[in-house]
Amino acid sequence: MDGKYYVGVDVGGTHVRIGMTDGGGRLSAVKKVPRREALPDEDPAALAGFIAAYLAAEGAKAAAAGVGIPGTLDRSREKTLKVPNLPCLDGLPYAGMLSERLGIPVYTENDTVMLLTGDLARPGTDCRGITVGIYVGTGLGSAVFLDGRPLRGKNGLNELGHMPLPGRREKCGCGNVGCAENYVSGRRLEALRREKYPDVHISDLFTALRGSEELEEYVDTLGCVIAAVYNLLDPDRVILSGGVPAMKDFPLAELRESVRAHTMKPQPSESAELLFFGEGGDSGVLGAALFAKNALGGR
Ligand SMILES: [Zn+2]
Repeated sequence: MDGKYYVGVDVGGTHVRIGMTDGGGRLSAVKKVPRREALPDEDPAALAGFIAAYLAAEGAKAAAAGVGIPGTLDRSREKTLKVPNLPCLDGLPYAGMLSERLGIPVYTENDTVMLLTGDLARPGTDCRGITVGIYVGTGLGSAVFLDGRPLRGKNGLNELGHMPLPGRREKCGCGNVGCAENYVSGRRLEALRREKYPDVHISDLFTALRGSEELEEYVDTLGCVIAAVYNLLDPDRVILSGGVPAMKDFPLAELRESVRAHTMKPQPSESAELLFFGEGGDSGVLGAALFAKNALGGR
């Protein structure tokens, strides 16, 4: 295969996913490997060798690569700031390091931006106006796009998961206390299971939690966090995705009701439409590849 391919890489704490697209939005040759195999702690730039080996195995040449990082980057997106689950990436000029070894432009971005890029590439998805992506997996991530492009603040951050909740004191991985992510995430569910439902498998936890105070609190906390987004930005759409809302018996109807209850009346409450995009799958890989294509094209 020769021509204009774009590689997408989704870096997670335990796995790295890689795939490519010809730019038309179709993802091919997706592979998932243990993270240490592709990105060893002692040599993070070895990810370039992993990407090169992947391209060689596929017989493909790439014009650029996009890499989704599960942490914060500076406003230029060339330097990582803090990557809580992968401290070996903290403070690195990572895009440049990879690009130098790989010999093609490499663009790094927060993984939620890559996810929303992939989600908005779905056929029929409108990206005009303000779109917010909320991703509930191990943690709670977010991204905000304006007319299909990431909205950048002073430091390029968008961290809804670290919205402080009054009265909550649990210490967060970011160093603060009471962050929303500690109360509405997969990590919180796992802690709840260990503490109160040790005999229940995590995939059955929402079934076991039905009608419980814990579930009510979980849904209402997530509802308040999402309502804050609606009240602040009055977005055209909010997309919810990730492993947690895709779990069996996730109370989506109750969550939508909670969002409506906590948003301003009559608007945005009446028009608040929380779109559910499923588990997410390879959205992050596709998004990273399309992000590289857009960045190379000067978008
Ligand atoms: Zn935090």
